[in-house]
Amino acid sequence: MQTSPEPASPEPASPESARPGPTDTGEAAQDPRSQELAANLAAVHDRIDRAMAAVGRQDRPQLIVVTKFFPAADVVRLHRLGVRDVGENRDQEAAAKAAEVAAILGSGAGAVAEDVLHWHFIGQLQSNKARSVIGYADHLHSVDRSSLLKALVKAAPEPGERPLTCLIQVDLRDPVPSDGRGGADPAAIADLAARIADAPGLTLGGLMAVAPLEAPAAPAFRRLAELSAQLRQTHPQAVMISAGMSGDLEEAVAHGATHLRVGRDVLGERPLQR
Ligand SMILES: *Cc1c(COP(=O)(O)O)cnc(C)c1O
Repeated sequence: MQTSPEPASPEPASPESARPGPTDTGEAAQDPRSQELAANLAAVHDRIDRAMAAVGRQDRPQLIVVTKFFPAADVVRLHRLGVRDVGENRDQEAAAKAAEVAAILGSGAGAVAEDVLHWHFIGQLQSNKARSVIGYADHLHSVDRSSLLKALVKAAPEPGERPLTCLIQVDLRDPVPSDGRGGADPAAIADLAARIADAPGLTLGGLMAVAPLEAPAAPAFRRLAELSAQLRQTHPQAVMISAGMSGDLEEAVAHGATHLRVGRDVLGERPLQR
């Protein structure tokens, strides 16, 4: 329990890896839940530091905090703790939460570019939800089929509006079973990428994957890195590799992930039912 009026001093960031810190250390950041989130965030950043050091990596991957199941109030706390990227996997929940958070943060989350909160949609997406997601998210990590891409092209932001950065979700199981768990067959990447790159209002960000449940994560992430290198031969700007969750972020850091999606180890266990 923190009883001192001074906030605990944050760990000094190592110079080469600008580790994000709290932007508001005032009264509001001192409630017990904020302290818990701050401690969990620090522990995750320590793991990232160690995973980077282990492979001699200098470029720090971006942490996306996955807030699914948790309330808008936690997103606001995270924003005060310096988090600028959050992830959600269900449109209905995310749309309501994004609206609630915007109402609480007001211009504080939009006036200055560094304060803007970015919503990443990371879940399987039905085509009829494309328009809704574009309303609040600026990154979509789960483009995995032609029918969804058609809907995105139709709903795409207009010139002058914020473009939607699209990542192609890859199914790393080999061979790819057709059980609808989400993710494109690697053979489909080139075609999806070409169509995203050609679509006004959409930007090709790169690749995303979830490690297969049945197999170790490291070889899967190594393969994802190879697929990313192949993609970049045609689309050099598509540098994002979104991989790594609470249980396997070290393997993802070791294999070049640029974006980590961490939920449980920051927010705590999710309830079993929504
Ligand atoms: C929930 C989720 C995560 C976060 O997983 P944790 O194990 O809670 O860190 C990451 N990626 C996707 C696609 C998710 O649905």
